[in-house]
Amino acid sequence: MRMVGVAAAFLMLLGQRADAQRVFPGGPAFPPGDSTLVITLGTGTPVPHPERSGPATAVVVGRRVFLFDAGPGVIRRMAAAGLPIDGVTAAFITHLHSDHTLGLPDLIFTSWVMGRSSPMRLVGPPGLQRMTRLFEAAWSQDTAVRVNGLERGRPGGYRTDVRDVTGGVVFDSGGVRVTAIRVPHGEWEHAFAYRIDTPARRIVISGDTRYSEALERAASGADVLVHEVYPETRMAPEPRPGGELWPRYLREVHTSDVELGRLAAAAQPALLLLSHVLFMGASEQEVIDGIRRGGFAGRVVIAKDLGRY
Ligand SMILES: [Zn+2]
Ligand SMILES: [Zn+2]
Repeated sequence: MRMVGVAAAFLMLLGQRADAQRVFPGGPAFPPGDSTLVITLGTGTPVPHPERSGPATAVVVGRRVFLFDAGPGVIRRMAAAGLPIDGVTAAFITHLHSDHTLGLPDLIFTSWVMGRSSPMRLVGPPGLQRMTRLFEAAWSQDTAVRVNGLERGRPGGYRTDVRDVTGGVVFDSGGVRVTAIRVPHGEWEHAFAYRIDTPARRIVISGDTRYSEALERAASGADVLVHEVYPETRMAPEPRPGGELWPRYLREVHTSDVELGRLAAAAQPALLLLSHVLFMGASEQEVIDGIRRGGFAGRVVIAKDLGRY
């Protein structure tokens, strides 16, 4: 069966399932005109929680899809959200931690198998180009068999157009501007938050970071701030070799609920959306309480996979 045939069969299956079992949300996936929708595809952490896929957030502007991070499960969550599986307008990676990039080969190769013929546009920190070159080498037998065998895959359709960047405006086209903001994330030399300005809204996505003043400025008056967080009250050494460093790791690498509450109180986003929550046994309410203790009285929601905001 030709690639296009495979894609068509898949889409038919998707439609049937949406009708019969409501496994996938029905109805149009795209917001009208230039209006902007945030879809939290994956809200998890490295913990393989069955209901929380790896970090991935889609910002959908009209019919254009901008993807932020590609954690494990990303392409299946995109299918479930009704987003095109043959490629996104561009994908932006916050940093190269595995929980944020394990879905990247899936995104690259599956979008090709589903019909993508032009290089996938990827933007991220230095090292992303090398990572994608290594993916290409790792799956070279697969691409050779799919192109030269009976599938007759489109030659080169698995290719990527990767830009390693160090910050600043990294995308500006058709009314959508994406700015990479350098954030502190432990030993990582390059980690970004992204600010997305669309004709309708301003979205800021933290990636992984400890409290960042630059991020607070970028989030000032934003429509949606998607931010990582951990509950300060659960910060304790872990019973394992090296586990005594865990509280220090949290303080230097991530943002506590109280710190985030303080940041949000200063920035006043219309919606604070918590994703990549390191619960460590805390309830959702405990995390919200921590945000309140930090001083933020505005709207705060713990994001769910496939949530639309
Ligand atoms: Zn992470
Ligand atoms: Zn990280």
